Amino acid sequence: MKSYSWIIKGGRVIDPVNGIDSIRDVAIEAGQIVAIAEALEYDEAEQIYDATGKLVVPGLIDIHVHAYNLVTPLGIDADHYCLGRGVTTAVDAGSAGCDNYPGFRAFTVEQAKTRLLAFLNISRAGLAFVGRFGDDVPRELDLLKLIHTQDCIDCIESNRDLLVGVKIRLTDTDMGDQGCHEAAAFQGAQAAAETTGLPLMTHHSFSSVPLEACPGKLESGDIYTHVYHGFASTIIDLDTRRVHLAVRAARERGVLFDIGHGFGSFNWTVGEICAQEGFWPDLISTDLHALTSEGPAYDMPTVMSRLLHLGMPLGDVIKASTFSAAKAIGWENRIGTLGIGREADIAVLELKEVDRELEDCNAQMRRIKQRLITQAVWRAGIPGQITRPLHFPNLKMIEKTKARSSKMLIRDPH
Ligand SMILES: [Zn+2]
Repeated sequence: MKSYSWIIKGGRVIDPVNGIDSIRDVAIEAGQIVAIAEALEYDEAEQIYDATGKLVVPGLIDIHVHAYNLVTPLGIDADHYCLGRGVTTAVDAGSAGCDNYPGFRAFTVEQAKTRLLAFLNISRAGLAFVGRFGDDVPRELDLLKLIHTQDCIDCIESNRDLLVGVKIRLTDTDMGDQGCHEAAAFQGAQAAAETTGLPLMTHHSFSSVPLEACPGKLESGDIYTHVYHGFASTIIDLDTRRVHLAVRAARERGVLFDIGHGFGSFNWTVGEICAQEGFWPDLISTDLHALTSEGPAYDMPTVMSRLLHLGMPLGDVIKASTFSAAKAIGWENRIGTLGIGREADIAVLELKEVDRELEDCNAQMRRIKQRLITQAVWRAGIPGQITRPLHFPNLKMIEKTKARSSKMLIRDPH
């Protein structure tokens, strides 16, 4: 009888929270990490994965995806797009509300190999209709009646094991009546988060709610997603072209800033302004959904590569994609590091030298020199099937994103 089911051999193990960045072997047995050492007994392993020249990191945590596949228009197959790219835990950002979360739980979450947690939408319908373009598409806050704070709270209490927060989209172009429900819905969502003691994740673009209220009135631990978009409600002060003071003050109070790349929320110009000021995201996430998973977001390693291009240090990129996400949802004692005795959620990434153009969400290009690609993944000690993103840039998708470029407030100089 061998001691280990797997040894992941000779990789550069990066586990920022445990202060590890060195060549190590990692051993798995019975679904857990049982040893991390300079050289393990290879005879004691049933299977060996040679990670020489690659990075061995905690299983990635994508804190913003849409995985209610085949039920909501935005839904994607989590095992293909998340686990297949090294994401062992994905957090759905409000695809379901209290009325359709039980179905999400039974038919998606419990069937997936990817660990699927979720922020519950404050709208009882979640994103049941959202995902198509046009003014005739119903949105989740078209009716004020769709916001029911107590039912949201009750659903969270019944699913505490998998629900980790509350989600709201604050945007007036995307919702009913040019945002007349935004303020009331925001209040309801804040109340649900406060009562349950969980974080509120806010989407904030084209919003009638000013920065002074969002993130200005968010609580410590709340999450402001889509931080690098350059449309109305951008975090960049249009007069000074610097990070808005209300945003800096919110960070000092403990509000967390999340990438949430998505279809419209990663703008190279905004990213570069933030980089210059050292205003790095606390959390890196994709906002993967049906309109972003084949570009412009692609997947978690590609979004992480964008942050590397902006100059964020590799260890910080890994931390913002693992431990920090775990901590933001109160799961830091279970996931996000490579501790002995932890469930063996592990990703092997390759940091590859490249020289190619990569788009943002606004048809702006940068030439990236390094790219992260997932080469292997284990979820609770079981290897996952690796999938590959489309060759980028995706010119067809770039044409689609261009439709909104006239609305950009922050952009490259012409
Ligand atoms: Zn989203």
